[in-house]
Amino acid sequence: MGVLRLLLGDQLSAHISALQGASPNDDTVVMFEVMEECSYVPHHKQKIILFLSAMRHFALELQNKGFTVDYVKLDDKENTGSLTGEIKRALQRHRVTSIAVTEPGEWRIQEMFESWKAHFETPVQILPDTRFFASKERFKRWAERRKIWRMEHFYREMRKEHKVLMNGDKPLGGTWNFDTENRKKLPRDIKIPNRLRHKPDTITKDITRLVSEKFPNNFGSLEGFGWPVTRNQALQSLEHFFEIAFTKFGDYQDSMKEGEIFLFHSLISPSLNIGLLSPREVCEAAELALSEGKVPINAVEGFIRQILGWREYIRGVYWELMPQYASCNSLSGKRSLPEFYWTGVTDLACLREAIGSTHKTAYSHHIQRLMITGNFAALIGVEPRQLERWYLAVYADAIEWVEMPNTLGMALFADGGKMASKPYISSGSYINRMSDFCAGCKYSVQKKNGAEACPFNYLYWGYLIRHESQLAQNPRMAMPYRTLRSWDDETKNTYLHDTEEFLKTL
Ligand code: FAD
Ligand code: SF4
Repeated sequence: MGVLRLLLGDQLSAHISALQGASPNDDTVVMFEVMEECSYVPHHKQKIILFLSAMRHFALELQNKGFTVDYVKLDDKENTGSLTGEIKRALQRHRVTSIAVTEPGEWRIQEMFESWKAHFETPVQILPDTRFFASKERFKRWAERRKIWRMEHFYREMRKEHKVLMNGDKPLGGTWNFDTENRKKLPRDIKIPNRLRHKPDTITKDITRLVSEKFPNNFGSLEGFGWPVTRNQALQSLEHFFEIAFTKFGDYQDSMKEGEIFLFHSLISPSLNIGLLSPREVCEAAELALSEGKVPINAVEGFIRQILGWREYIRGVYWELMPQYASCNSLSGKRSLPEFYWTGVTDLACLREAIGSTHKTAYSHHIQRLMITGNFAALIGVEPRQLERWYLAVYADAIEWVEMPNTLGMALFADGGKMASKPYISSGSYINRMSDFCAGCKYSVQKKNGAEACPFNYLYWGYLIRHESQLAQNPRMAMPYRTLRSWDDETKNTYLHDTEEFLKTL
């Protein structure tokens, strides 16, 4: 009798702990496409295609290596629709000594796995996910020593511990952070490279048909799917990014341009998050490119900070603060998410652009998520859980451990600053500085008040006035609050009035 080894859709790595020590002769790998996982939020159609197609490809790779894979498809007649139901059925089909699973990326599934221990007579082993630089325990050790958590401190510790971009005990290049060099606006005549997109093969085409039948009303376009669904494709995409975009990644990391979705970003988050690439190999490749003189240090440091810094930090925050984290709402947001987040139909050109590109590709880059859709939702006071479910649904890379702290902590400041040092909010002038969206907008970014003014302008000040008691003491908010203190009541009331009038239109 062997072991029943369960792999989830975001565990598609040959080195995943659930496969360690596996015997192709005795053990059975089980993989389930279940309706519960495909529908607990209304996922973007391309996100479902990505997960199911990558799962089917990975199952074939394992079979080619000699493993027995018991694979249940979404439309199999006997499919119970849930992971628990499918494990139960698999235990009837296979006589096994134990079930091995790797810890999942969501609190909900972690609880489900824990419940299996009580539910099934067969022992259940929940193994750590070793694909990260920092284990949950490592983050806990770091966090317990501190009252205030900041990514930058954690990142420096990770750099030293894993000897990444280090020159002895000093940071390579003489500084830990090259962020000040990474805020350039795109020159008008800059050439944006075409990105490698992968043509759907038979498996992906079958899944696309299935998704069009089962999820016809979900958000997102079925057309134009091009995400890597195998490790080989993910490696090709990574190499392509290194060749044609990486050198400019740092400079234009925060820029946005109408009609240009990907710019110089790496597009690796879906592959990293489902396991086709490992964060270690990506960081090693980036360091190698630097040492070979192919990519400047501001690009390499900026890129590695996102992966070794932000990605690991975010995961630590999630597991350390769940399950209470999911319901945090420190600024008491109550507003419903505007309908246009689902339709893309709005007069605000920046939101139309960000939501439109999300609809088309299940992707938008960090600044669009943070400073357009996130910023707007923060300024109008959306109920955090509604925005959080939206981000979880619409992006191909969205898995709760990474999506939730980014939404609640970074975009909405709903955790009261546990994770970020200040709210990431701005008026229209930031959006105008970093993009060309305002030129094609019905509103005027120069006007501060009135029906023609850019709504971000008065919403920004309305937000600061509403939340003065919670935010005015934050040293990083000192500047806007100094400005606000110099205003008379009439000026403040104009901003509050414009805010109220705009909110009525939503
Ligand atoms: P690049 O800009 O090329 O960056 C390289 C890699 O760094 C990314 O692939 C990613 O793995 C990592 N990274 C960068 N920023 C972050 C971050 N803030 N947190 C974690 N990892 C980061 N990222 C997800 O992977 N899944 C999500 O569901 C997700 N939801 C987000 C929601 C909001 C509100 C915000 C503000 C950010 C979110 N992010 C999420 C982080 C970030 O926007 C994406 O990782 C990035 O846009 C992915 O595109 P890329 O691969 O081209 O990234
Ligand atoms: Fe967005 Fe305001 Fe610019 Fe319009 S004017 S694109 S609403 S920032």
